[in-house]
Amino acid sequence: MTEVATKLTQVQKQINDACNQANRDPQRVTLLAVSKTKSAQLIQQAIDAGQRHFGENYVQEAVEKIQQLAHNPELIWHFIGPIQANKTRLIAENFSWVHSVDREKIAKRLNEQRAPNITPLNVCLQVNISGEQSKSGVNQDDISALADFINNCKHLRLRGIMAIPEKTDDSEQRLHRFNSLFSLYQQLQQRYPDVDTLSMGMSNDMPEAIASGSTMVRIGTAIFGKRD
Ligand SMILES: *Cc1c(COP(=O)(O)O)cnc(C)c1O
Repeated sequence: MTEVATKLTQVQKQINDACNQANRDPQRVTLLAVSKTKSAQLIQQAIDAGQRHFGENYVQEAVEKIQQLAHNPELIWHFIGPIQANKTRLIAENFSWVHSVDREKIAKRLNEQRAPNITPLNVCLQVNISGEQSKSGVNQDDISALADFINNCKHLRLRGIMAIPEKTDDSEQRLHRFNSLFSLYQQLQQRYPDVDTLSMGMSNDMPEAIASGSTMVRIGTAIFGKRD
């Protein structure tokens, strides 16, 4: 068994345990393996262990690996990094999902650049409630307008929200933020029936994210080890 396979099994067990504790069905939590900076060879080990969803942050690096790994059937690539306007075409052409849409200009370009003969690009809004680690993300007041805009884009499919809460050792504070994100997610779900994805939780806060209703956890370090 490769080290990646062993770690994947451990993470899957943590997901199952967190779901059991929260009385949730583990089938409703998707594991997204975040492979930024990691080689195609290491990703292949995860694929061989059954992993299908992969997340990448840097467009150029990601596209190279997507091409190197193209012989693997059924891989689902998610773009989760900050988006520059001049990179939207590569994202629209190479990914199934994008989690980090935070402004109309980017949504508009992705919609125009997504090929009309393939499935629509699945989109999560990156939201910035108070205390976000990155400066990216749409502010709470602007969420409905952006969601409406995406919902009207023919080649995009609004699936939910993504957030990267600030790192904190205060577990109460972490729970509070996750719970606020969950209620935002529920509000969106009431308006848009396709919304089924709450992308939150990373290696250091996964169990709390699952307890608060996350449906997709983005895990890098716990699977592939520390990044340089
Ligand atoms: C790098 C990254 C992750 C994975 O973080 P780990 O702490 O390594 O699990 C998740 N989400 C986003 C947006 C990232 O950039």
